[in-house]
Amino acid sequence: MFKFKVGDKVKITAGKDKGRDGKIEALDSKKNTVLVPDINLYKKHVKGQASQQGQKGGIYDIPRPLSLAKVALICPKCNQVTRVGFRIVGDEKVRICRKCNKEIDTK
Ligand SMILES: [Zn+2]
Repeated sequence: MFKFKVGDKVKITAGKDKGRDGKIEALDSKKNTVLVPDINLYKKHVKGQASQQGQKGGIYDIPRPLSLAKVALICPKCNQVTRVGFRIVGDEKVRICRKCNKEIDTK
């Protein structure tokens, strides 16, 4: 089971955006990366195309996927950076916060 989900709040723990936080917009469980808006931006040069309306040339800031090793979950219950644990509830596995021991996922 994957430790992170889309919508999770995470803290960046390494790299140029270290210390910042954001919400996971997308994740790739094969590459073990997450995409967080406005984090890990890089400049992309885009050429204008006359054939496509609204497509302007210029330099755009595009977020690049971050390795999971560089993010830590911020617990929605205690608001602390935490590691994710798991607990079996009924026949379901739910994520728990190692700091406050509360279930992270609410239904
Ligand atoms: Zn917690």
